[in-house]
Amino acid sequence: MNLAEDLRRSTDNLKSSEARFRSLIQNSSDVITLLDEQGRISYITPAVEKLLGYETGKLLNTTLWRVIHSDDLNTANATFQLLLKADFGQELLGARWKHSDGSYRYMETILSNQLADPHVRAVVLNTRDVTAQKAAEDKLRHQAHHDPLSGLSNRTLFKDRVAASLGRHRDDRGSLAVLFLDLDDFKHVNDSLGHAAGDSLLLAVAGRLQKCVGPSDTVARFGGDEFAILLDSIPDEAYPTAVAERILGAFRLPLLAGDIEMTAAFSIGIAISTPKSLDPEEFLRNADVAMYRAKGRGKRTYEVFEVSMHAAALERLETENDLRVAIERDQLKVEYQPIVWIESEQVYGVEALVRWHHPTKGRVEPDRFIPLAEETGMIASIGAWVLEQACREVRAWDDLFPDRRLRLGVNLSVRQLQRRNIVNEIRQILKRTGLAPDRLTLEITESAVIREGEETAAVLQRLRAAGMKVAIDDFGTGYSSLSYLARFPIDVIKIDKAFVRASGRGAKNSALLRAIVGLGHSLGVEIVAEGIETREQAKILESLGCRGQGYYYSKSVSGEVMAGLLGRTSPLHDGAAESDREAAEEAVMLELLEGSTGQA
Ligand code: C2E
Ligand code: CA
Ligand code: CA
Repeated sequence: MNLAEDLRRSTDNLKSSEARFRSLIQNSSDVITLLDEQGRISYITPAVEKLLGYETGKLLNTTLWRVIHSDDLNTANATFQLLLKADFGQELLGARWKHSDGSYRYMETILSNQLADPHVRAVVLNTRDVTAQKAAEDKLRHQAHHDPLSGLSNRTLFKDRVAASLGRHRDDRGSLAVLFLDLDDFKHVNDSLGHAAGDSLLLAVAGRLQKCVGPSDTVARFGGDEFAILLDSIPDEAYPTAVAERILGAFRLPLLAGDIEMTAAFSIGIAISTPKSLDPEEFLRNADVAMYRAKGRGKRTYEVFEVSMHAAALERLETENDLRVAIERDQLKVEYQPIVWIESEQVYGVEALVRWHHPTKGRVEPDRFIPLAEETGMIASIGAWVLEQACREVRAWDDLFPDRRLRLGVNLSVRQLQRRNIVNEIRQILKRTGLAPDRLTLEITESAVIREGEETAAVLQRLRAAGMKVAIDDFGTGYSSLSYLARFPIDVIKIDKAFVRASGRGAKNSALLRAIVGLGHSLGVEIVAEGIETREQAKILESLGCRGQGYYYSKSVSGEVMAGLLGRTSPLHDGAAESDREAAEEAVMLELLEGSTGQA
């Protein structure tokens, strides 16, 4: 082989490898661009036509910067300058490039400085379109920070914003506020109208909430029916409460959820930052604590967090935890208060009243744990337990006193009424315990019946169809319209003790009480007057043929004491029940005393 031949072959090789290289870059889906030191395009591959819609000729000898988004220009320039400083250096640049149709594409470019290479003498750019990938990433990021249903910020993003805001205010003072919002009675919507209706309501609520705040404020949904608002910068302490009032006001108007008109109301807790404000977690917790306080005060209202609320919140949490195990640990007891014919003082039935014997707090009154049990849903199991216990015990008294056939009243909370299967659950209990349905009266408070309206009426109807009786409890504390109540399927009206108490004060009040009893009878319902404490109160009702309940006859007593009462023939109001209980307690005390002296 001679030199000439050698040279020819290597030139051929070079030519074919150059052709291969050329074809490679010409057909690559990446855009390859050569730039001079000023960023002018000296060469660009045809892929740019597919990617950005430009003919290659159009771009030659113009600068690259013309196609880069103005917001990305600074970064692009800085990257380019950095690259020029290092021979054979490489940089990576993400930037938006303008398409010939005017839109922008997200491009990722590897730049390498080949200016010092005598064969290249250019900056070489290798660019690919990452718009789809970027969109997917953005979507993922959005999903990680937003509530899918409403599109509002989620808890994660909200907490980040609160943290950032707290950080900003630490430096330049001023305050921010967080509002914690919980929809009142949302569970009821979900249970009775279904989840789709619940979702539309939440969506409508989200929309209206956003209209109540400014553009720099953040509205978030934490899941369920919990929302939160960050007021990023407040002019004074009154501002957050003004916002809360605005929200409560805005939600007085009905909402269109899907095609149903609904109303929604919030309980709102407010936390306002102080100069040395805490970490975001604690800040949010304060707003939460204030919200619970608002809820406890009767809904559609707001509360501003105060330090003293912490203790109350802790106690509440403790009670909640203790209540969870109260049934298993046998701490709940059912007591019975007799219901009598006022005229003869014959015991006609009993009302079951639950009691909680707390291991350290002693006797806890139902008013202190029933509302909590309702809020947490524990009322379902507690209510079922009370019902079964009471049915069983009353049925057992039949064997001791065959001619009594006492009626049993059991309180039923709205939350229990809302359970889909409630009628069957109660029927099962009656079947298990052997108590006839017509001996059971379910007591539902007047306010609950009025508030829940139609659906409650339907459940009451089904209870009655199954043979049970229904009583309106605490009559006189709510709507107090007999003619309205008469439209509901009820058998018994229990007149609230406040009414009975007022009757002792003046002839007008006692006339009113008599009128209610008379009207009730004409509507065909039984009347029980509650909270009779004195002989005078009993006298007012004596001749009207109604029933009564109250301390005048007996307080609530244990099952054993009640059985004792049923065996007696003397009238109740002589305080016999009281003395029975006192005697029993005395006996226990004596035993204890003797025990301790015996040991000493
Ligand atoms: P309620 O159904 O109106 O029960 C009557 C309440 O008045 C009872 O209070 C009873 O002890 C009290 N009371 C009876 N006679 C008199 C009287 O002459 N004067 C006065 N001042 N009070 C009298 P208690 O046992 O503390 O129950 C309070 C409420 O707790 C009940 O009101 C009822 O709404 C609820 N509750 C009690 N047990 C249960 C239960 O098992 N389930 C449900 N859901 N609620 C219950
Ligand atoms: Ca009752
Ligand atoms: Ca009552």
